[in-house]
Amino acid sequence: MSRLDSLRSTFNAKRINAVLVSKPVNVRYFSGFTGDSTILIITRRRQILVTDGRYDDQARLECPQFEIVKQERGLFKAVADQLKSIGIRRVGFEGNAITFAEHAALQKLLPEWNFVALALDGLRQVKDADEIERLRRACSIADRAFEEVLNYIRAGVREIEVAARLEYLMRQYGSERAAFETIVASGLNGCYPHARASSKMINDGEFVTMDFGAVVEGYHSDMTRTVMVGQANDEQRRIYNAVLDAQLLGLKSIRAGVSGREVDKKVRDFLKKADLEKHFTHGLGHGVGLEIHEDPRLSRLSRCKELKAGMLVTDEPGVYVLNFGGVRIEDTVLVTAEGSEPLTRSPKELIELM
Ligand code: ZN
Ligand code: ZN
Repeated sequence: MSRLDSLRSTFNAKRINAVLVSKPVNVRYFSGFTGDSTILIITRRRQILVTDGRYDDQARLECPQFEIVKQERGLFKAVADQLKSIGIRRVGFEGNAITFAEHAALQKLLPEWNFVALALDGLRQVKDADEIERLRRACSIADRAFEEVLNYIRAGVREIEVAARLEYLMRQYGSERAAFETIVASGLNGCYPHARASSKMINDGEFVTMDFGAVVEGYHSDMTRTVMVGQANDEQRRIYNAVLDAQLLGLKSIRAGVSGREVDKKVRDFLKKADLEKHFTHGLGHGVGLEIHEDPRLSRLSRCKELKAGMLVTDEPGVYVLNFGGVRIEDTVLVTAEGSEPLTRSPKELIELM
C-alpha cells in the first residue's frame, strides 16, 4: 500500500474525510517535499500541497502527484480557503504539530468545521527498502567516523574537540548534519546520560562515552561507544562487560512479534542480577528514522505491543554511577522476521587506547 493509501485507510476509524499534515517530517514522508512552512491537505481523492513563493518551484519538482497551491496571505488562511472550496467539514489535524493558537485561528476562520486531533507519526514505524538503505548509509558513515576518531582520542584532548572531530568526519563522509548534539562525556561526566561535550580535558584512566549519528536524505543513525583511555581497572572492566552483555542480550531479544516492554525487561532483569539495574535510568531504546527519537519505544512504558519486521530501533543499555562515571553502548538495529540486524557495526569489545 502506498503511503497516502495507508494514511487514507485511517479516515474511517476517525470519521474524517480529510487530514491536514503539517509536521515537517510527515509532510516529507507523505509528499517528498523537503521544505518547511507547508501543509498538505489529503482528502479521499485529492492531495493538495499549500506552500509559499519560496517553495513553489521546489514543490512542483519534488511532489509531482500533488496539486500545488501558492499562498500569499497566510498559510492557514489559504488552507481554510481550500477546505471551504472542497466542502469537507470533518478534518483531522496533527495534534502534536499544530499550536493552540493555530488551531484557534483555523477554527475562527471555519467556525462550523469539526477539527479532530490525531497522531500520524506511527504510520512511519515500518520502513520500506529505500528508507532502510538510507539508514544503512547513515549508520556506516557513523562507523567510519568512529574508527577514525579513535586515532585522535588521548589524554589531554578536550571532549568538545572530540565532538567536533566526529561531526567533521561524518560530514566529510556524506552526512547532511549531525543527527543530534553529539555527546562526548569523559570520566565523572559519564554519569549523566545526556552530558554535553564540555571543555573538560580527557585524562588517563577515564572512560569516554560518545553518542552520535549521521543523517542521509533525512534519515538518522544513532550509535554510542564507550572507550577507555589508558588501562581499565577491575571495576571499570566489570561494569563495561556487564553493559556489553546486556547490549548483546538486547540484540538477541529484538525480533518481530515481541513487545517493546518485553525486550526492555529482559535487559533490565539481566542488569539486576549484576546489581546494576538501579543505575540503568532510561529505556532500552527508541525508534529512529526521519526523527532521531520516534516510535516504537523499548521501555517499561512502551505502547508497542509487537515489533514488526522493517522497524528500526536502538539497543542502548547504560549504567551511570555517581562518582564513578558511566558506560553506554548503542546500536541502530533493524528488526527482521528472524531476529535483528545491527546496522551500526563498530567493535564493542572494550577498547583501551594506549
Ligand atoms: Zn544515541
Ligand atoms: Zn539513542
